[in-house]
Amino acid sequence: KKITIAIDGFSSTGKSTLAKQLAKQLSYVYVDTGAMYRAVTWFAMQHNFIDESHFDSKALIAHLQDIKLEFQFNSELGFAEMYLNNENVEMAIRTIEVSNFVSKVAEVSEVRSKLVEQQQQMGKNKAIVMDGRDIGTVVFPDAELKIFMTASADTRAKRRYEELKERGDVVEYELVLKNVVERDYIDTHRADSPLVIAADAIEIDNSNLTREEQFQTVLELVNK
Ligand code: C5P
Repeated sequence: KKITIAIDGFSSTGKSTLAKQLAKQLSYVYVDTGAMYRAVTWFAMQHNFIDESHFDSKALIAHLQDIKLEFQFNSELGFAEMYLNNENVEMAIRTIEVSNFVSKVAEVSEVRSKLVEQQQQMGKNKAIVMDGRDIGTVVFPDAELKIFMTASADTRAKRRYEELKERGDVVEYELVLKNVVERDYIDTHRADSPLVIAADAIEIDNSNLTREEQFQTVLELVNK
């Protein structure tokens, strides 16, 4: 039986790691919705709708129809990479600069409705595992399995810090922690589709779980 799996939660809780593992094991399609918000942010930065401190959301809204987002499966990596207007932006969207602005971009209702619609199309009648902030509440409120992931801010910042370091991005730990905390704040306080736990979601705090323990826990839920 093929189901829809929604994985939501705070920043850097390991949602995408878990989602990728599940998709691989179950032969499901994996969609990283955060990558889509990141790609829109990258587009806005490239067009100077965002600089140091100012974000011209009106200009972005006026150009939303110029944004084409696609995922292309990379068989070497084993997951799909994000393409913005036919260009691979997988590296560009993971920088701390994009992370610093993405939650502001994700507050814009017009951005959200465009991406939510595309996400719903991608998941229609498919065996899918999708991760984000509003998948179980807005994108697929009828998903058969909803997971909500949490971990302490410190645990999450450490993970993100290691990830950035692995990629050669040297960023101070304090700045990474600040970014994680700030994004959580904006995500939980925005007017449109704030990050909340769906009533029927299963919460998993993975501060003290290994990747494998967490994977097995969720796999059991899938097979239930
Ligand atoms: O998942 P990731 O950390 O890459 O997401 C980046 C940002 O995009 C989040 O902090 C959040 O502001 C936004 N986002 C969202 N809704 C989603 C996925 C991501 O608002 N479904």
